[in-house]
Amino acid sequence: MVLDIVQLGSPILRQMAREISKEEIGSKEIQGLIEAMKETMRAAPGVGLAAPQVGVPIKLAVIEDRVELIQGMSSEVLEERGRRSVPFHVIINPTLTVLNDEKVNFFEACLSVTGCSRVTPRAKEVLVECLDENGDEKTFKATGWYARILQHEIDHLNGKLYIDIADKKTEILQNEENRARWFNASSEDIAMYLKERGL
Ligand code: ZN
Repeated sequence: MVLDIVQLGSPILRQMAREISKEEIGSKEIQGLIEAMKETMRAAPGVGLAAPQVGVPIKLAVIEDRVELIQGMSSEVLEERGRRSVPFHVIINPTLTVLNDEKVNFFEACLSVTGCSRVTPRAKEVLVECLDENGDEKTFKATGWYARILQHEIDHLNGKLYIDIADKKTEILQNEENRARWFNASSEDIAMYLKERGL
C-alpha cells in the first residue's frame, strides 16, 4: 500500500518521534508499516523515508539506494558523491555519531518538501547504532551519499529537516532545466555556485 507523504507545514514533521520497544517491532502493525513504507519509498521514488513522513511519530526509517536510481549517473559523479547502491534496510531508535565532520556540499531534497532542492552540508562519515526490523542491535559506519541519507533520515526522527541547515539562497526548483544542470553538478560547480552567492 502506497501511503500519503506528509508535507512541510504539518506539525508531525517537527515533533521528536518516540522510541519503540522490541515487542512493538514484532507486532503486525509495525511489520505492516515497514512494508507500506518500503512500497511508498519505491513509488516516490526516494532513497529513504522516515515514519513521521507518513504520519507515524516513531523512531523508524527505511533506506534503500537502488541500482536503478544511480544507473544514469556517470562514474565521476558517483565517485565524487561516494554513491553506491545500498540494499533495503530498516533503522529503529537510531543514534548517530559523526566520525568525520568534514562537510560535503551537494544539492539535497526531501519527499516532504516537494518541488525544491538546496545545497546542504553533511558530515563525511558517521556511525549509526540502531535496531533492525527483527529487533536485533546493529552498528555500522557509512560514508559518502549513504552517510548523507542516514543524516537526513535520522534528522526526521528528531523533528529536523534539511532546510534547517541548508542556505535558502541556494534554493532551486526541481524542474527539468535545473535537473539537467545540477543533478550531476560536480563539487567544483557547487563551490562556484556558493561563491557567487557569497556563501
Ligand atoms: Zn526527507
